[in-house]
Amino acid sequence: MTGEQRHFVVVGGGLAGLASAVWLTEAGQRVTLLERRGSLGGRTIAMPQPAVDDVPDNGQHVFASGYENVFRYLESVGTREHVCFPGRLGYRFPGDDTTSTSLHNVDKFLKRVPGITVGERLRAAAATLRLMAQSLRQPHDLDAITAAEWFDRLGMPRSVQHALWDGMTIGLTGDKPELSAAKPLADLMATGAKQALKLRTPISIGYPTVDLDTLYLAGARRVFAERGVDVRHRAVVRSIDVEDGAVTGVTLTDGERVPADAVICAVPVWSIRGLLDQVPGHEEVYRAAEILQPVPIVSVNLYLDRSIGMQEWGEVLYDGLGVLEQVWDRQRMHGRSPERSWFYSTTVSASYDLIGLSNAEITGRQMEMLRRYYPEARDAQVLHSHVVRMPRSTITQHPGSFGVRPGVETQVDGLALAGDWLQTGWTITMEGACQSAARAVDHLLSVTSVRSSRSPRPRSSRASL
Ligand SMILES: Cc1cc2nc3c(=O)[nH]c(=O)nc-3n(C[C@H](O)[C@H](O)[C@H](O)COP(=O)(O)OP(=O)(O)OC[C@H]3O[C@@H](n4cnc5c(N)ncnc54)[C@H](O)[C@@H]3O)c2cc1C
Repeated sequence: MTGEQRHFVVVGGGLAGLASAVWLTEAGQRVTLLERRGSLGGRTIAMPQPAVDDVPDNGQHVFASGYENVFRYLESVGTREHVCFPGRLGYRFPGDDTTSTSLHNVDKFLKRVPGITVGERLRAAAATLRLMAQSLRQPHDLDAITAAEWFDRLGMPRSVQHALWDGMTIGLTGDKPELSAAKPLADLMATGAKQALKLRTPISIGYPTVDLDTLYLAGARRVFAERGVDVRHRAVVRSIDVEDGAVTGVTLTDGERVPADAVICAVPVWSIRGLLDQVPGHEEVYRAAEILQPVPIVSVNLYLDRSIGMQEWGEVLYDGLGVLEQVWDRQRMHGRSPERSWFYSTTVSASYDLIGLSNAEITGRQMEMLRRYYPEARDAQVLHSHVVRMPRSTITQHPGSFGVRPGVETQVDGLALAGDWLQTGWTITMEGACQSAARAVDHLLSVTSVRSSRSPRPRSSRASL
């Protein structure tokens, strides 16, 4: 902070843009937040269902206890208390109506998987040790092979890959092991191990006890109103304007120009193309946009006439076919009364096969799945169902993509990027979005050569590249 208040424009009102705006205004800066849609929140939103008078989310968002920047954001907007870490998650197998609650004892877990022999369990234990060792001291070619190829090379039995590691890979990298490179998985295993050492406790999974609007937006709106942040909806940015190597503002698609001393561009990777045409070096960022492809998630909010008998707040369903399916008990998570209906959500990550089906087919498949795992679900009736297709949920990192995620800094004075797709210590997560925001804000606040908006420049011309 140099003491002088400057005008920052933040483009994009998802988590990265919200965190940027909140932290800039905390630092005493004047902020305008521009969001293309009619509401803020980006990929973390609640979707009210008037038919059942409820406010489900666009998909379950879980937290790792190693996250730091998301919690800093929640502290800033006053909602940190709404994330809890029960310290366990459930795991289920079809035909076995009990829930196991820990993956820390992998051997105990594998004993319950039908068809896995003692020999396979022993080989899996040795391969898991090798996997951890190679995550910390990585062989040079982990970006050249897929996670599935890495498992084979480590000697992980295929049966154990399908029972455990395929689902783990989808959960951690967002994509299937035959598509994701081994490197992001190894990086995350290493980040998790380091965070666990730092925090002196194994990483666990937590969840919000309120809907995502209450968690992320309610407090932000209060901060913005108190600090005079100008939030503009349906403001679609067409270009970031640059003159003489410094940012001068942005231009909207309707031609309006919004001058600024500094800009944080916090749009998703699939929206970046065209915005940075005046920015030297933009070709590399656009190349990242070609390589980093979106991965779909399908969620179903199911309102049933009875309990299905879950034993934990969230349960991961293992079918041994390498599919990651999860079910969430909103009664336990949100303290919801089941007086009118029992509310469960299901999540299918990397749901390439499911996303093209009709709502009725998707709901039918999810109910079939619940009936396979939960005896009490056999006669359950669906009172209301709400299918949420998010074709662009997370982003895949195929082999050969290491290093394409750009950093937050650009070659332009006063311009930084933010968003989950930028280079951070995490994969495509809420933490990645907030970590990039923290870096973008720190970077811009530390730069002293930002021009003052009090002497606005003429409309910028296209910079030569
Ligand atoms: C169903 C689902 C489940 C998920 N589960 C988890 C989870 O369990 N844990 C986890 O950590 N992460 C999870 N994620 C990922 C997480 O939601 C994202 O990583 C994070 O929210 C991304 O935030 P962002 O701000 O980078 O991008 P976004 O949320 O996409 O925000 C970008 C914003 O920019 C706006 N914008 C785009 N172009 C323009 C323009 N030209 N002008 C103005 N505005 C523009 C968009 O409208 C949008 O609001 C999940 C995502 C989904 C969809």
